[in-house]
This record gives sequence, structure tokens and C-alpha cells, in this order.
Amino acid sequence: MTTVVVGAGHAGLAASHHLSARSIDHVVLERGQVANSWRTERWDSLRLLTPNWLNRLPDLPYDGPDPDGYLTMGEVVGLVERFAAAAQAPVRTETAVTEVRRTDAGYRVATSAGEIDARTVVVASGAFNTPAVPALSQGVPASVHQVTPFAYRNPLQLPDGGVLVVGASASGVQLAAELARSGRPVTLSVGEHVRMPRTYRGRDVLWWMDTTGVWDERYDQVDDLDRARRLPSPQLVGTAARATLDLNALADLGVELVGRLAMVRDGRALFSGGLRNVFALADLKLERLLDSFDAYAGRSGRDAEVGPAERFPPTRVPGSPRWQLDLAAGEISTIVWATGGRPDYSWLGVPVLDEKGRLRHDGGVVDSPGLYALGLPVLRRRRSTFLHGIDDDARAVVEHLSGHLDGSP
Ligand SMILES: Cc1cc2nc3c(=O)[nH]c(=O)nc-3n(C[C@H](O)[C@H](O)[C@H](O)COP(=O)(O)OP(=O)(O)OC[C@H]3O[C@@H](n4cnc5c(N)ncnc54)[C@H](O)[C@@H]3O)c2cc1C
Repeated sequence: MTTVVVGAGHAGLAASHHLSARSIDHVVLERGQVANSWRTERWDSLRLLTPNWLNRLPDLPYDGPDPDGYLTMGEVVGLVERFAAAAQAPVRTETAVTEVRRTDAGYRVATSAGEIDARTVVVASGAFNTPAVPALSQGVPASVHQVTPFAYRNPLQLPDGGVLVVGASASGVQLAAELARSGRPVTLSVGEHVRMPRTYRGRDVLWWMDTTGVWDERYDQVDDLDRARRLPSPQLVGTAARATLDLNALADLGVELVGRLAMVRDGRALFSGGLRNVFALADLKLERLLDSFDAYAGRSGRDAEVGPAERFPPTRVPGSPRWQLDLAAGEISTIVWATGGRPDYSWLGVPVLDEKGRLRHDGGVVDSPGLYALGLPVLRRRRSTFLHGIDDDARAVVEHLSGHLDGSP
């Protein structure tokens, strides 16, 4: 076998698409079914935050009736399955990769269904397959139910009572809103976050991100790449009403905002102060982003094509935000850790991880000859982890892989 691709999400399938285009024989190994993460690691009400027209996959642009809509999880699974079929990807489902080791000729890939020797391996096993729950969760009293967005499905699944949602990125704000609407008292712990309106000047805010080229920025041009790769997802939700879901909207729903969860001590959650500063920083960054959109509209002569410039009220700071919560007192029955995810490389027996467990790679070319990666944040561009970011990345990575096979540098 020339190439083994690990994972049949859109990234692994895009690798397959470009490998086939170069007639490189390969197999895509998937521990579950195609689009496994979308089937098994997402909550019921989730919709994409990228509008349909933006979700272009290699040779598969959106051609449905609702370009401005947002796909449900079932629809995303359908999309990724359609892509697998169109790419004629040679996927072996229910085949987990249990180890990858280096050999003289390349790599030995151990799977739940035997071993495969391959000259090259593409790691497309997902950037967020394991919940990243902070260690302080260990101090939470046993009476409090703890769940992550990977296992959460809907409000009915949680015990009665108040919910503390930790993290105010896309997942955290969406779950806080859903739980508040279900009638539960919700407290949201807010750290650094990215505020965005759903629409700006009459267009989806992601139209602006796409059109102005923000997402085109290459990994080798980004000032602080490490930071760019850790940037939280924007506070957005995909709904038919194209509603904005920022902290003001959550406060209107009755969600109580508190600072970043700093510590759990003696059964008490302690929150950082300085909410005012955290909010002001997010507001300032939003202003700068909108300024850049306005500048683009002016520069490119599109002012008349879009609506008038807008500015949004600052994030309201609660009068006296609580700085601690007694988790043992019964007020909080559940904590939702919306603190993000990280990749799982427990099966990767090649020494290519840094001290934080991240793959050492240069634009997807991993620090071991013939080993490649796809689907990681800002892998080659700011849009790398989005569905629409994969085509360019997969093409470039497969081009390098092809050169490696040919023996060219
Ligand atoms: C909550 C959430 C919302 C998102 N919303 C959007 C959005 O609106 N728009 C957008 O463009 N992007 C969105 N994304 C980002 C991105 O599209 C997804 O993270 C996407 O799933 C990444 O695709 P992938 O192919 O890199 O990884 P995955 O889809 O995670 O695919 C990796 C595959 O590898 C398999 N695998 C892992 N380990 C092994 C192993 N050892 N052996 C065999 N198989 C293995 C997994 O089962 C999985 O099928 C969202 C992500 C999350 C988490």
C-alpha cells in the first residue's frame, strides 16, 4: 500500500480525493462510520455555523435550494457521505488504527483488522476528538453531574436544577441558550472569547470573513501562529432567523454571567474578576474587525452593494458578578465543560508530538518523512479546520506527499 489515511471525516476524504487525482493507491481507515464525529460527538440541536453556500468541499459546491441556511447534524452526515461517494474514497469502516510505527520503508499501521505497511500516512483523525476538561474539574463535588458537549445531547438528559456552563465560545453560548430556554437557571463562566454578530451590513458575518480574505491568511504569515491555532471559536449559532448569540443576548435570556473559572476549592467554584476588561477586549476586537470590513467595502467599491455600516452596543457588565459558587449547596446540579477539544494521538507511535501533545508539523508536513496531517487549526490557512478550508490544504499536502514518493525534496 502506498498511503494510509487515518480518519474518514471530510479531511481524510479530501486527502483521498486528491490522492486519487494523482493515482496514488491508498486506503482510508475509519474506526466508526464515515462522518463519525458528526454522528457521535455532537448535540441534537446543533447546526453548522457556516452557511450552506460556504460549505464547499473538493468538486462539491453547494447546489441546494437554501444557500443561506445552516445544516443540521443529519444533513452534515449526508453531505460528508455524498462527498465520500463522489470521491469514490476507498474507506474501510469500523477499522480503528491502534498503532503507527516507523519502518525502513515507511510505516507499519496496526489496526483492529490487522496490519498494513505503507510508504506514507496521512493523519486526518480530527483536531477535537477528545474533550479538553481542565484538571480543576477533579475538585468538583461528586453530587454535581459533569458533562462535555461531546456527550451532551439535550436538556432532558440532565438532572433537574441549575447548570454551570464553563466556556463562552460557540459551543458554550449555544448550550447556555438552549438550557436557559428549557427553563433551567444557567450560569455561564466567561473567559477570553470572540464576539461576532450573525449578520453585518445585511450579509452573514462569515461572508465578510470569506470575502475580505481574513481566512486566506497563510500559516507562515500569521504573526503569532501558536495563538492563532488556539483561538476560541466565535460566538455564533446557525438559525433560520439568523439571530446573534452574544453575551447580551444570553443576559436577555436570563443567563447569569460570571468570570473565568479559576479554581475549585473546598467544593466552591472561584471565578476571576475583571469581567469588564474581558468584555471590553472582545468588544474592541469586534470593532476592529468591523472596521476592516468597512475598509474593504470602501476599497473594493462595494459600499452600495451591502447595507449601511453598523455598530453594536457594548457587552453589558453585570452589576456585581458573583465571584464564587458553592457547588455543594445544590444550586448547581450540572457542569457543562464547554472548554474545547483536542486531538487523540494515543495510537501514534512515532515521536512527533511536542511537550503539549501537539503534532510537530510545517503546514501539514509532519516532522517524520512520509507522515502528513490534515484538519488541524491554521494548518496552512486560517480556514483550515472549516469544511471549506480543506480543498487547498489537502491538495498541497498530497502534492508534497507525491514529491516524497518520487524522491524529490
Ligand atoms: C461543535 C463543532 C461545530 C463545528 N461547526 C463547524 C461549522 O459550522 N462549519 C465548519 O466548516 N466546521 C465546523 N466545525 C469544524 C470541523 O468541520 C469539524 O471539526 C470536522 O469534524 C473536522 O473534520 P476532520 O475530518 O478533520 O475530523 P473529524 O470529522 O473529527 O474526522 C476524523 C475521523 O477520524 C476518525 N478516527 C479518529 N481516530 C481514529 C483512529 N485511531 N482510527 C481510525 N479512525 C479514527 C474519527 O472517527 C473521525 O471519523 C465544527 C466542529 C465542532 C467540534
